[in-house]
Amino acid sequence: MLRAKEIHLASRPHGEPTPENFRTVEIDLPELQDGQILVRNIVMSVDPYMRGRMNDVKSYVPPFQVDAPLDGGAVGEVVETRSDAFAVGDAVLHGKGWRDTAVLDGRSAMKVDLDKGSPSAYLGALGLTGLTAYVGLTAVAQFKPGDVVFVSGAAGAVGSLVGQIAKAMGASRVIGSAGSKAKVARLLELGFDAAFDYHDGSVTKQLAEAAPDGIDVYFDNVGGDHLEAAIASMNKNGRIALCGAISQYNSTEATPAPRNLALAIGKELMLKGFIAGSYQHLAGEFSEKMATWLADNVIEWDETVVEGIDNAPQAFIGLLRGENTGKMIVSI
Ligand code: NDP
Repeated sequence: MLRAKEIHLASRPHGEPTPENFRTVEIDLPELQDGQILVRNIVMSVDPYMRGRMNDVKSYVPPFQVDAPLDGGAVGEVVETRSDAFAVGDAVLHGKGWRDTAVLDGRSAMKVDLDKGSPSAYLGALGLTGLTAYVGLTAVAQFKPGDVVFVSGAAGAVGSLVGQIAKAMGASRVIGSAGSKAKVARLLELGFDAAFDYHDGSVTKQLAEAAPDGIDVYFDNVGGDHLEAAIASMNKNGRIALCGAISQYNSTEATPAPRNLALAIGKELMLKGFIAGSYQHLAGEFSEKMATWLADNVIEWDETVVEGIDNAPQAFIGLLRGENTGKMIVSI
């Protein structure tokens, strides 16, 4: 009988997650049924949205269950198959991360071409992360060449792509905020025109200095004081894509900012939230463009890799603390 290692939710966190909220469990895998495949995972994703799933609240994805395995994006290799659609050796993208080996219904896995991208690229630049950056900027914030763009969480997986896509599509100025000096230096290397560390003082003040002519688009990964700062710097008819609010994910109390929302009236601003999965109709257009940008070295792609399924909880906790530059990946 084949054994597998899974990470379960041991308890729900209050505030910041701790290692005690997770448990590593060894299980016997069931025999494959018709239509199923056995996949040995190569890489898995840890993502900020998983923090929300650790709470027992209704959202656009169901909450994780206590004493049950977590799940999320992963890429693995088919090692046994009872599905005509897959052969042993195929690489597949699927939703049963947080374990080293998984039994899957073939219909819930998608073949990926490892000649076109590494396994982790399909969790990052070529996957949902890249789609989030692209649709948030183009379809949601309605980016136009010449716009001044500000993105928060700019050294992270989504943010670093947003800034580079904006430059590639003709932004007149791109500004990023991030949580360390090293990250700020990396943003300037990636072609951002200006970047600042939000620990260095008021975000509103630092943004106003970095954007003397104001901003036209804000891609919000952080919420709170960053959103308030962006509203203050917004030009007339500015557009804000509400992608994430990571500064609030571990909060145990409601956060007051943005306190200046009423400015949106006179400035005639647009603020629109979005879920990348609702923009699958743009996935083809996105894949083509991203493949070209990566091949032409117009866009660079950073990863922080944590080794071993046992260290997946630590990778997730580290992600929420900013220990990653680019996409946080667990190599299994
Ligand atoms: P990142 O790679 O950006 O990792 C998270 C980063 O958030 C950390 O590296 C850290 O960087 C930063 N961070 C943590 N706490 C704070 C804080 N209090 N204030 C400011 N920054 C903080 O993750 P992703 O690129 O995967 O996700 C970025 C955002 O996009 C998240 O808000 C996520 O929820 C959202 N998202 C939304 C999707 C959608 O469909 N709407 C899809 C995918 C992601 P630092 O060192 O700079 O603090």
